[in-house]
Amino acid sequence: MYDRYSRQILFSGIGEEGQRRLLAARVLVAGCGALGSAHAESLARAGAGHLRVVDRDFVEPSNLQRQTLFTESDAEQRLPKAIAAANHLRQINSEIEIEPHVVDIDYSSVERLLEGCDVVIDGTDNFATRYLINDACVKHNVTWIYGAAVGSYGVTMTIRPHQTACLRCVFEEAPAAASAPTCDTSGVIMPIINVVSAVQVSEVLKLITGQLDDLHGSLMHFDVWKNEWRRINPGAPRADCPTCALGKYETLWQAAEGAAVLCGRDAVQISPSQPTRINFSSLAEKLRRAGEVKFNEYLLRFKTGNFELTVFQDARSIIRGTNEIALARSLYARYIGN
Ligand SMILES: [Zn+2]
Repeated sequence: MYDRYSRQILFSGIGEEGQRRLLAARVLVAGCGALGSAHAESLARAGAGHLRVVDRDFVEPSNLQRQTLFTESDAEQRLPKAIAAANHLRQINSEIEIEPHVVDIDYSSVERLLEGCDVVIDGTDNFATRYLINDACVKHNVTWIYGAAVGSYGVTMTIRPHQTACLRCVFEEAPAAASAPTCDTSGVIMPIINVVSAVQVSEVLKLITGQLDDLHGSLMHFDVWKNEWRRINPGAPRADCPTCALGKYETLWQAAEGAAVLCGRDAVQISPSQPTRINFSSLAEKLRRAGEVKFNEYLLRFKTGNFELTVFQDARSIIRGTNEIALARSLYARYIGN
């Protein structure tokens, strides 16, 4: 039975019953960049029966260093990541269902994408999307596994609605726009992706096979360069948490960050979710590694490839070179952050 899964069935944590549950499982892979590639490949090989892979971006040459599902040909064709991923996943395992979605995970799509899924594994790159996933998962009682990596550092936590602290219990507010490093401004090395994904995927396997006692139950931090591994107890769900205690799910009924296409200008305006004041000189220092940057006291202008980002002091940005909100949000997340 199940020859291709024989070594996994031999493993006592899974066994035949666990494999049957895996084959019947539906997993939402939210974001298919570096972490999402690693998640999707591991889950396809493990025989997770139905993978819904969601990503708003297309493949670029600079992805190939760490986004292991993609090839040079995908980058040359600028294929959407969800489509390229589905093509490769079907070659890895033709016996499971792969359902690609080329969409932005936002307040209008998140609940539809979640429908029918047993668990969500996070491969997104910004806090706005993670709060959205947190609200949707807590509302619909679906477990999700937060994961993030930048530089050589990574973090992960498993959120079981009303059983454990949620993302909002632990991080009440997202870091202010432009304050946190991103992979596009501070870089990232592949080993940390593998570490974070390994822990996230292991949690998915435990959840699906019902081994809840083996979940790690912590906020895990790793730095593969500084050789630091830490576990923090996130505590119980907070009694005043707007999501898991008060059930407000604010991100589900409002656009977390405003976005508008600027007519006739080949540009999109993105407004941050929370008002903030940007320190242009420190943002410029980060962005200098990724492109050409100039600023004065009123605005900062950053050019990368065919795009130009103009950032105002309140973190509002105009992204020139596209009319697509999803692409503009993606550029904003990558260069300005959250
Ligand atoms: Zn909470």
